[in-house]
Amino acid sequence: MIYTENFTGVKDFQGISLRGIARDIALNLLTTRNTLLGLEEALKKPRIQFLFIHHVFDDEIEKFERLLKELAKNHTFISHSEAVRRLLLGDIDKPYISWSSDDGFKNNLKAAEILERYGANCCFFLNPVSIGVKDDYWVKEFCSERLRMPPIEFMNWNDVHELQKRGHEIGSHTVNHTNIIDMSSTEVHDDLVECKAILEKKCGPILHFAYPYGRFFDFNKTAFDLVFRVGYDSCSTAERGCHISTSAPIHKNELFIRRDQVIAAWKLGHIMHFIAQSAKKADLRSNFIPDEYT
Ligand SMILES: [Zn+2]
Repeated sequence: MIYTENFTGVKDFQGISLRGIARDIALNLLTTRNTLLGLEEALKKPRIQFLFIHHVFDDEIEKFERLLKELAKNHTFISHSEAVRRLLLGDIDKPYISWSSDDGFKNNLKAAEILERYGANCCFFLNPVSIGVKDDYWVKEFCSERLRMPPIEFMNWNDVHELQKRGHEIGSHTVNHTNIIDMSSTEVHDDLVECKAILEKKCGPILHFAYPYGRFFDFNKTAFDLVFRVGYDSCSTAERGCHISTSAPIHKNELFIRRDQVIAAWKLGHIMHFIAQSAKKADLRSNFIPDEYT
């Protein structure tokens, strides 16, 4: 099996979209006016911003390092657990960033090395079904059907243990990367329990959950409540946004974490624009479930 080692391989697989080209042109225009729009100022705002990646391919390593260097200028990196703890207490005295990564690709080991150089760690949200799988056909199908990706090598359990030893956290991303809204509430319950049990047997306590695909419409209130009922401490989306302090502490089963996706291959100015936009728009409502769930 030839695994995809470069982000260009992902672009070839996914194809060039007109939407992507239009967005690139618009962002080029916007980012030249960033300073004027006060986005630089937004980055200094006390907040907790969760950033997440899926991969750092060989052709993204340098860019990822440059991003870390840029962010380290005015942010403190904290773990997912520490970010959740601070959020629940409303203890947000300066700009914080917390990193996570979904889907468990092997190239995340390179991401971890770079993060470590900047004193950051990461919470890796894993699907137990894909860890250490060597079957070429299975990997190709799973990557294509579930992750919308070309074949990419997955971590094995030794890699997972190594990451833990180096101070990173492990979280649950469902057993099979199935879309939650395609499951009955019993199936969701069982999956949340099973994923936690499999990961805990290998890794110790698993407290954090991020659901696959990550948009609000990929989840619902029933599933949100189940996450806490079966014993997780946090639930993460892939909806853009960031978190600021509430005047009163939040209970853990109220907090619905927003995360900004980062693709290291994107231009640094564009990534900083997304991050600053989220910071600028930070709103107390971003701590909770969206109106459409109620
Ligand atoms: Zn995923």
